[in-house]
Amino acid sequence: MSDGQGSAVLIVLIEDEPQIRRFVRAALEAEQYQVMDAETGKRGLIDVGTRRPDLVILDLGLPDMDGIEVVRDMRSWSNLPILILSARDNETDKVKALDMGADDYLTKPFGVPELLARVRALLRRTVRMHGDETPVVSFGGVEVNLVQRIVTRNGVPIHLTAIEYRLLAQLVANSGRVMTHRVLLQDVWGPNHSDNTHYLRVYMSNLRRKLEEDPNVPKHILTESGVGYRLVLL
Ligand code: CA
Repeated sequence: MSDGQGSAVLIVLIEDEPQIRRFVRAALEAEQYQVMDAETGKRGLIDVGTRRPDLVILDLGLPDMDGIEVVRDMRSWSNLPILILSARDNETDKVKALDMGADDYLTKPFGVPELLARVRALLRRTVRMHGDETPVVSFGGVEVNLVQRIVTRNGVPIHLTAIEYRLLAQLVANSGRVMTHRVLLQDVWGPNHSDNTHYLRVYMSNLRRKLEEDPNVPKHILTESGVGYRLVLL
């Protein structure tokens, strides 16, 4: 939230590898973000608790504690955006961290443009959550009126089933974030269905058919392979 002083956006970076710390810090500082770094999970949690940053970038492989535990701890008292950094051979941990409430991930090695794009997307989300909530969300000719529950595409009303609408509403409410299969299934179908990923495939393909210009090359309802889905507004 802006305090009217134009104060810098503060990012806490929790990462034990010095080269990656230097690289990420330099990339962020070049964009005028203020960066505070921590080498361990415990130190990071203290920094996040005391400094109240706008965003946390968290490496999952830390020397003193599991990055997933850091996410779990933070989520018990804060919903600030968490971008995780994961190693390529650590798919399961990445999904666990996202299930636990992390917002997005980057797989090492990653480049500066990728890093900055993710950071910007997550900070935009924060602004929207704190700013005045508009009940109409639009993307690619689609408008979703979250109060009246009306969906139109190029001005034409689109009929969605109750499940399709719930799924879309979850994606819209979390736009920009990666929503894991487990989280979407639990939110939409309930806790007993968290393994039925084929439901998601079927309903996502319905949503794409109804909402995407070319359902085979979706621009908004994106698949995160092996992880889940992400709605990109743009
Ligand atoms: Ca590490």
